[in-house]
Amino acid sequence: MGLELKPSKTRIAHTLIPEQSEDRIAGFDFLGHHIQQFPAGKYRSAKHPGTQIPLGFKTLITPSKDACKRHQREIKSVIKKHKHSSQARLINELNPIIRGWVNYYSNSNAQTTGELTRQDHLIVQKLRAWGRYRCGNLSQARRKYWTKIGNNNWVFATKEGDANPLRLLTHTEFGSSSTKYVKVKGDVSPFNGNLVYWSIRMGRSPDLPTRKATLLNKQRGVCPWCCLRFREGDILETDHILSRALGGKDEYKNLQLLHGHCHDEKTALDLEYSRKCKLIKYFEYVNKELEKSNWFWDENDILVTSEKRRRESH
Ligand SMILES: [Zn+2]
Repeated sequence: MGLELKPSKTRIAHTLIPEQSEDRIAGFDFLGHHIQQFPAGKYRSAKHPGTQIPLGFKTLITPSKDACKRHQREIKSVIKKHKHSSQARLINELNPIIRGWVNYYSNSNAQTTGELTRQDHLIVQKLRAWGRYRCGNLSQARRKYWTKIGNNNWVFATKEGDANPLRLLTHTEFGSSSTKYVKVKGDVSPFNGNLVYWSIRMGRSPDLPTRKATLLNKQRGVCPWCCLRFREGDILETDHILSRALGGKDEYKNLQLLHGHCHDEKTALDLEYSRKCKLIKYFEYVNKELEKSNWFWDENDILVTSEKRRRESH
């Protein structure tokens, strides 16, 4: 018993060069995704994972043509079903469909390639037909079913309850661009204890106090004193950028995370600086006191005498 491929469901395709596919179409569909590579210049090209040399192409994963058509067919049937029902009922049935579809493709390049914008545009066209059918003409329908929310003049939303109108979701608003999604580094998982990595990535870690995790994330994992990255097992210490002795406050913008040994170095310098500041303050105080009275040099020493005592002495 061996694995056999059904010829009618099998297609040999090249992901980059159409001529090398048996039907001269590059790329293939898989679970509603279309996977294809495109020639790309130096800066946009994918890089070899080891050598970082540009490979000359980039991979784009988008919703497949069939999947897009199926989605629009579903939307169309819902809009048709609600020809005579209220706007609210139509929105209530469309929103979960849109949300679910965008979620399914959330890690694809749908946003980057403009597929989500295209889906929104197709829905608007269908809704305009729906409105025209109900009101007789578009301008009346526009006034009745579309409103302005924020900067957007064309929001399909209900008019009842101005404070909280029921609004149709769009594909673009919660689809994220593929460049925003940062892939998890090779072999790390939140469970293998690399708390520095996970704190930098998420700003939190179950094994690290929130304050330290937040600072690690803010500093992108770099110690500002030695400019080196923190590594697993390093001693992490919270430091007041302007020391408490000099009036620094205990708040996030005055805090940084340093290596234990870097913290020691900084504390030593802080102490020296604070001593200097104290000396300067002392000199200022002496100066002020001197100004209050009359004084003159006497054999290289300062003699401080008040007006009254000077008169007495002379
Ligand atoms: Zn350091």
